[in-house]
Amino acid sequence: MSRRERNRGERSREKKVEQVDVAIIGGGPAGLTAGIYCGRARLNTVIIEKGQVGGLATYTNDIANYPGFVEGASGIDLTRQFQEQAKKFNVKFKLTDVKSLQLEGPVKIVDTGRTRYEAKAVIVATGGKPRLTGAKNEESFLSGNGIAFCATCDAAANQDKTVMVVGSGDAAIEEGMFLTRFASKVIVSVIHDEGIMDCNEIAKAECMANPKMEFIWNTVVDEFKGGDLLETVVLKNVKTGELIPIDVDSCFLFIGYIPNNELFKGILDMNEKGYLLTSEKMETNIDGVFAVGDIREKFLRQVATSVGDGATAAFAAEKYIAEEETFNSQVMDSGDKTNLVYLYDATDQCCLDGLAVLEKFEKEFPELCKLVRVDVYKSNGLAKRLSVDTVPSVVLVKDGQIESVIEGDITRDKILEMIPSEISA
Ligand SMILES: Cc1cc2nc3c(=O)[nH]c(=O)nc-3n(C[C@H](O)[C@H](O)[C@H](O)COP(=O)(O)OP(=O)(O)OC[C@H]3O[C@@H](n4cnc5c(N)ncnc54)[C@H](O)[C@@H]3O)c2cc1C
Repeated sequence: MSRRERNRGERSREKKVEQVDVAIIGGGPAGLTAGIYCGRARLNTVIIEKGQVGGLATYTNDIANYPGFVEGASGIDLTRQFQEQAKKFNVKFKLTDVKSLQLEGPVKIVDTGRTRYEAKAVIVATGGKPRLTGAKNEESFLSGNGIAFCATCDAAANQDKTVMVVGSGDAAIEEGMFLTRFASKVIVSVIHDEGIMDCNEIAKAECMANPKMEFIWNTVVDEFKGGDLLETVVLKNVKTGELIPIDVDSCFLFIGYIPNNELFKGILDMNEKGYLLTSEKMETNIDGVFAVGDIREKFLRQVATSVGDGATAAFAAEKYIAEEETFNSQVMDSGDKTNLVYLYDATDQCCLDGLAVLEKFEKEFPELCKLVRVDVYKSNGLAKRLSVDTVPSVVLVKDGQIESVIEGDITRDKILEMIPSEISA
């Protein structure tokens, strides 16, 4: 290799550093919605997606319950609209995997190997991946060898074939019915007693009436068998132990999803099942890091709830960034004066009385004091950063350090007592 080629190779391996306001990890419905809101708030935003933009929603051909789409929509079409809307607001898309993270502190590092994003806030939207059965030989038939998870992607390849669906929830039954448009027979393995299914009643009635669908009750998968491609699924009756071999061309697993949380282990708080814990504002345990959609602990995992999470997190991230900037440029930076940071509630008379005292005080000592007003109703995060939980309070900041705090009624004497001697002298 010539020197020139070597240099070119080294240059191309050099890591790019890019500063953004918000880095969103995952481009499913939750991440895309967060992107739309961040972009519209004029935040410089990147969405990093390692697979298909649109996420798990692209696995379904019929989303019938997303408001505004009376005739339903395919997951691909619906999320393509989300993506177009995000692009309209100048959100950038990077199709790559996130390799590592450093989330503590004001600058969050999201590293994709090639690019190191330095973000003011991070929104985690990594969703979930299909759960496997754990049956014998399962691994051999993944990756296109007969076990599938996405009817939209793989249904057409099953024209006139025999297909098995494992599971009886909404996804299993609705995707199973979609598969009957192509396959000659769809055999559903259901773990429950005859007639009991986890899906909604409408889907249950429709699938029971579908002549192409058959149900094998009280069963789980015991083994997958075949050569290079899957040929037989051996079911096991959970009550009798009987093994039931069924010859199929493909087997679709819809037995739930597990969170894509590998990157966050030991960094973000999660429950025993691995879902990230968040507040109502989608905040995680690290300031400036939010989690949205199926990756977080929640009651209902759907497109509609992911969209709500994305909007909330983006709004919270915007507030967080604005507060961080105010905190650094106004609250902690006092120049050569002393900052009197007043935390108050503008609807409370006692707080307003205190404000009048402080305004008068600032006028009395204009060379020495600067009053910084923080209405906690609008900006609770600043109170949190200053570790103040009562209003009214005055925090005295000098040379970037918190010197002292007065809580409760604010009087001229109390302020005089706490301020440095050069003022009171
Ligand atoms: C078959 C099926 C049918 C469904 N039907 C419906 C329905 O009818 N109605 C409904 O409302 N919902 C339905 N859902 C559920 C819905 O799709 C999900 O609730 C929704 O997609 C969750 O959105 P999300 O953005 O949180 O996560 P996901 O859609 O899972 O998106 C997460 C994205 O993050 C990416 N990612 C993960 N890790 C990384 C990483 N390290 N770096 C970069 N990117 C990463 C993934 O590739 C993925 O694209 C269905 C789901 C399935 C599977």
